[in-house]
Amino acid sequence: MNRTVMLPDGTSVPALGQGTWFLGEKKFQEEQEKEALTSGIQAGMTLIDTAEMYGSGKAEELIGRTIRGMDRSQLFLVSKVYPHNAGRKNIFKSCMASLERMGTDYLDIYLLHWRGGIPLSETVACMEQLKKEGKIRRWGVSNFDTDDMEELWSVPGGKNCAVNQVLYHVASRGIEYDLLPWMREHHVPLMAYCPLAQGGDLRRGLYQSAVLNKIADAHGAAVAQVLLAFALRDGNTIAIPRSSKKEHTLDNAGADGLVLTEAELAAIDREFAPPSRKVYLDIV
Ligand code: NDP
Repeated sequence: MNRTVMLPDGTSVPALGQGTWFLGEKKFQEEQEKEALTSGIQAGMTLIDTAEMYGSGKAEELIGRTIRGMDRSQLFLVSKVYPHNAGRKNIFKSCMASLERMGTDYLDIYLLHWRGGIPLSETVACMEQLKKEGKIRRWGVSNFDTDDMEELWSVPGGKNCAVNQVLYHVASRGIEYDLLPWMREHHVPLMAYCPLAQGGDLRRGLYQSAVLNKIADAHGAAVAQVLLAFALRDGNTIAIPRSSKKEHTLDNAGADGLVLTEAELAAIDREFAPPSRKVYLDIV
């Protein structure tokens, strides 16, 4: 994997990782899903995103079975805590349970999945405690809009946030108006979820778009690869496409080598206009 993103602490991670929502839930697909994840890891997509929520732990368990025997230091594991577990009462148990399900003794990043009722100051203090204990290397947030990030910056330790993971794809560009500029200014990388618009489910007709198909054809690429190249274009974004199929996973890894031209980006802007006013976060 050639494209990497630098985290605030100077660690370099692959710009393309792998999502795992809905994986691990169907026993009969286990081998196929393990093969997909493994081929992605072999192709350099060693950053794997998951959450305690996904299949109530089944995605983390699948990851655990997939990476058993692999060199842990070559992997970059990201998991998320439910908002209602992100306080002193539950977070330490939640984190341990995620570690056990994945068969590892640390997470590379632990994310607050979305904002809930527990004060941010408490969550941040717990995250810092987990860091001290060596259970996590760093922490971040997910589904935080600009006002949430500003609030986070005002709590003790809040500026240690390593990433903000939010929805971002060519047909959902609202964050470009103020959240993304805020994150750039404060050196918080974006981790883009649903970078494939869930295979088109989030925007009907996306994969049939004449503009995207023309660009894909010009590069001998697939539309999915154009979507990923678009998400990665600024060098500060990590995208975490999910696939249950080896062929798709390898296509996704292949997007590493696809760089869109200025003219192609302009054509995308005409078809999928960037925001001209504040748009609240898109969430799935
Ligand atoms: P994606 O945008 O990654 O799309 C996944 C879908 O795209 C699947 O149906 C997959 O089908 C299909 N697909 C994958 N690769 C290709 C390809 N090359 N060509 C055509 N279709 C393809 O959606 P997700 O919702 O899974 O988002 C990615 C990840 O982000 C999640 O898995 C999760 O880890 C994270 N996430 C985080 C959220 C949060 O709140 N923080 C919310 C949502 C997601 P197939 O299996 O057949 O390949």
